[in-house]
Amino acid sequence: MDHSARASTSSASSARVVDVLVPVALNQTYSYRVPRGMELKPGDVVCVPLGPREAIAVVWAENPDPDPRLHNRLKDVGEKLDVPPLKKELRALVDWVANYTLSARGMVLRMTLRMGEHLGPERQRMGVRLIGQPPQRMTPARRRLIGILSDGLLHGKSETAREAGVSAGAIDGLVDEGTLTIEPMPRAPAPPAPDPAFAAPDFSRQQRTAVDAMRALAANGSFHVALLDGVTGSGKTEVYFEAIAEIIHHGRQSLILMPEIALTGQFLDRFAQRFGVRPLEWHSELTPRTRARNWAAIAAGEAPVVVGARSALFLPYADLGLIVVDEEHDQAYKQDEGVHYHARDMAVVRAHIAKIPIVLASATPSVETEVNARKGRYQRVVLPSRFGGQHMPHIEAIDLRREGPVRGRFISPPLAEHIRVAIERREQALLFLNRRGYAPLTLCRTCGHRFACTICDAWLVDHRFRQRLVCHHCGFSVPRPHVCPHCAAEESLVAVGPGVERLQEEAAALFPQARTMVLSSDLVTSIETMRSELNEIAEGRVDIIIGTQLVAKGHNFPRLNLVGVVDADLGLGNGDPRAAERTFQLLNQVIGRAGRDQGRGVGYLQTHQPEHPVMKALVACDREAFYASEIEARERAGYPPFGRLASLIISAGDRPTAEGFARKLAAVAPIDERIQVLGPAEAPLAVIKGRYRFRLLVKSLRSVDLSEYLREWLAAGPKTRGNLKLEIDVDPQSFL
Ligand code: ADP
Ligand code: ZN
Repeated sequence: MDHSARASTSSASSARVVDVLVPVALNQTYSYRVPRGMELKPGDVVCVPLGPREAIAVVWAENPDPDPRLHNRLKDVGEKLDVPPLKKELRALVDWVANYTLSARGMVLRMTLRMGEHLGPERQRMGVRLIGQPPQRMTPARRRLIGILSDGLLHGKSETAREAGVSAGAIDGLVDEGTLTIEPMPRAPAPPAPDPAFAAPDFSRQQRTAVDAMRALAANGSFHVALLDGVTGSGKTEVYFEAIAEIIHHGRQSLILMPEIALTGQFLDRFAQRFGVRPLEWHSELTPRTRARNWAAIAAGEAPVVVGARSALFLPYADLGLIVVDEEHDQAYKQDEGVHYHARDMAVVRAHIAKIPIVLASATPSVETEVNARKGRYQRVVLPSRFGGQHMPHIEAIDLRREGPVRGRFISPPLAEHIRVAIERREQALLFLNRRGYAPLTLCRTCGHRFACTICDAWLVDHRFRQRLVCHHCGFSVPRPHVCPHCAAEESLVAVGPGVERLQEEAAALFPQARTMVLSSDLVTSIETMRSELNEIAEGRVDIIIGTQLVAKGHNFPRLNLVGVVDADLGLGNGDPRAAERTFQLLNQVIGRAGRDQGRGVGYLQTHQPEHPVMKALVACDREAFYASEIEARERAGYPPFGRLASLIISAGDRPTAEGFARKLAAVAPIDERIQVLGPAEAPLAVIKGRYRFRLLVKSLRSVDLSEYLREWLAAGPKTRGNLKLEIDVDPQSFL
């Protein structure tokens, strides 16, 4: 590949040269000359000519010894942008993550520059105001504009145009006629800073010990990992807020990472109750303008506390002093497209590079974190009981083999009875089923035809609210037919198995007086609507909540005392090495929603295998037993954290191409007795979006630098061509 950009200009050959990294799918840097008079240092954000266009880039290194033959062909750096330079610690993180995940450095860099097009200092916004007489020629559009501006106040120009449904030019026309005037909008004042002394709570004795540990870790200010290990409802949030208070005192920034869907209004309000103002948010639903503004505030050090989804980890904090990873065990921290990274692990890496403390909070730590705590690599800070003396929920299994519902129903008679009693007591019940839609499969009773996706190896899921059959892997959908497309039988299609929508139908039939609500990610149109629905539940305007894992995370529903897990076995049977861990964490967390405020919480597990270790540990409230058996099993099998794993996923438009490449790749894997290469095997999800998929699983001892091994292997291996694609997933969480 050509490492130099071709020069169009020429001048003195003694100019300085820097290597810049461009936020595109490339690993290497490019050399550019520094124009005379431009001050540049590593980390500076610049514009450079790249092929026919201009690109944003970051100065990565001084190039003291450029190839003299290329020197005269190098292009000049275009312009230095007026934004704070990326600090050394962030550049080191980019290099580290790229190296570890085998991603292009440019793609990792791109995650740090996600400020949208509004780069640089916020553009001056213009406003418009009504000042004079109506224009000579009145049109409906002009009338609408004047109506909106009739209060004589200054309105944002583009907002006004949008509200009136006219172009900006229509406003300019009225300015020319002297009806309107345009003035710069005053800048929004910086929001008030969080106040560490605003409303510190009274802590219980148990909490105080944990609070002291948090304050000490924050005050110490060096790299240190603490596991804040507290049962659901023990006050982990209140406790880690004290570490944040300490960091605010020191004038540094804190980052709270959360699984995206846990980023609720409730959490922001709790923060405001403690610190007087809401924190700055960072997630995928920010508008471009807010995104740009927040990015700038973070880079300028004007955002003391940021709460964000995993992508917030890569932002250019001016002075990051603390990271908190809430619900650290959550699967949502793993990004499975583009750069395959685990935000919790990379947060520890960032803390290490930046030499700052990090708090991992969970009621059910990941096995990796639990092992680190047991080995003393992480400090364990414990909150053993619920705040305010509330008991942990009592958990019972309902054996579906003996007490199951009749065919086509999914709520067993005992569970229905408990729900009836709860509603009578004016308490809420939550039915948990991790399945979106109405039914996971539709078949024809007459000919047996099953509705499958045309381009994926998957059944179509019946979504009754939307009246469509939908593929959960590619989004393909068809209207729900009335006639079998195969045998033309009418009234012959039946739904097989439950989804939350079907459960709602059953709950409504069982309890016609009850108010039911389904919470499922496919029904949530925006974070805002989800926040308002969660509020309705918290205020008690719903009797039976029916939800997917969306409801498992971080919410406080004061009147919720009963949780019924409709299919506790759902996550166990798919051959995934983390299936037991995930099921334990998810069920523990969802049942932990019960009985947080008053009354006793209960959880019912509908299961076909009450003797399964996960069910037994849940029923006995024996977390120790679960971790002991899981850690032992992992150690025996050499799975993480006792060994390392990486997946190679090979896909192509046809099966032989994918399989052939996977075999060739496997055949050239360097021999190393510490490393096993398993496969290729057809992926459990054998076809997605028309692409045939094969997997290789690489397993090594913990002491091996697996990334390095993969790099050497792939460098020597066959190259992907045409529509062959090779994805590398170091530390895979998904095995589908
Ligand atoms: P966790 O995150 O461990 O599940 P939370 O931090 O959500 O627990 O706390 C559970 C509930 O108890 C919340 O409503 C919280 O406001 C309340 N709480 C916890 N500690 C205190 C305290 N010291 N004073 C007042 N309320 C508290
Ligand atoms: Zn599909």
